[in-house]
Amino acid sequence: MSTEGTPSKASAFVPTHPFDKRDGADAVLRSSDGADFYVHRLILSLASPVFETMFSLPQAETTPDLPVVDLSECAVVLEGTLRLIYPGACPNIETTDLLQEITEVLLKYDMQSTLPVVKLHLEKFHSTHPLAVYALAVRCGWNDLAMGAARESLKHTIRVPSHDAFQQLNGLSAAAYHSLLQYHFQCAQAVDSTTSSLKWFPYPAALENCACSVTFSYSGPATMPPRRVPRWFYQFLKDIAQSLSSSPALNVWDTSAASQALKEPKCDSRGQFDFHAFVTRQLPTQLNLQFDKVQLIDASPKFTFPIEAKHVFDYECPKYYNFNSVMDLSLKALAEIPGN
Ligand SMILES: [Zn+2]
Repeated sequence: MSTEGTPSKASAFVPTHPFDKRDGADAVLRSSDGADFYVHRLILSLASPVFETMFSLPQAETTPDLPVVDLSECAVVLEGTLRLIYPGACPNIETTDLLQEITEVLLKYDMQSTLPVVKLHLEKFHSTHPLAVYALAVRCGWNDLAMGAARESLKHTIRVPSHDAFQQLNGLSAAAYHSLLQYHFQCAQAVDSTTSSLKWFPYPAALENCACSVTFSYSGPATMPPRRVPRWFYQFLKDIAQSLSSSPALNVWDTSAASQALKEPKCDSRGQFDFHAFVTRQLPTQLNLQFDKVQLIDASPKFTFPIEAKHVFDYECPKYYNFNSVMDLSLKALAEIPGN
């Protein structure tokens, strides 16, 4: 731990309220890019046993300068973290990348009581970044959020190589990724069985007798009698199965399969069948029932926080926390205490 008089390298980041005021502050956190945050030991100690231990170390001497703790986090991440733990200083977290980095800091400094706040912020990204939400939810052991994100991922083509998933899945274990892919694939199989077997659907008998009807071949139980369906509807079932094979929870009404089926003008069967209701209500309801049955294997790590406060004194810890200056000071202080 150096003191305030030690200059930081010039930082482009200027901390704002409440971290810009020296008055009342009793420590400085210096980011890796040189920004100084004036902080209060009491608040940090309440939020983090790591900081609590650090600030309880005997001080070598009293000086008018505030002690400076050099941290390995950049200013943006540090500010977001501090705003999560400070009262009345709500952070504006606009990207999942930043939320992911802040979460790593919270885990690193054992700020368990602040993690639920991250969950609230994470839920904002549920529909726009389901993979990032899944990755972070698994990391933190929030199975309900992981399940919701996996379900949301069914609207996306995450199993195709071109999907831009790399950044969102940063830090996710191979087991958790495999679990997600397996869930996605099993839901795609549920789409296939639903669209290739209409046994769940109260099908109007009049449709079987349209002049264009063809025999619909079931892939389901052999005991099902063959059914005849209009040619356009047969084609729709094949097309929608194809469309949903890579993104099982795509909005069926928005697919080219649905719009193509709507272009079929010359068929008696259209008057017998409410295609809009089938596409917007009956089929999605049946698909959701099938998705409900698919299990997402819990691949969250059997979570333990990476380090306990007492390990601050362990040999490897200063390197991990980048607290070399703290250790130097504390060892010097310990040496000055009689009997040590
Ligand atoms: Zn017809």
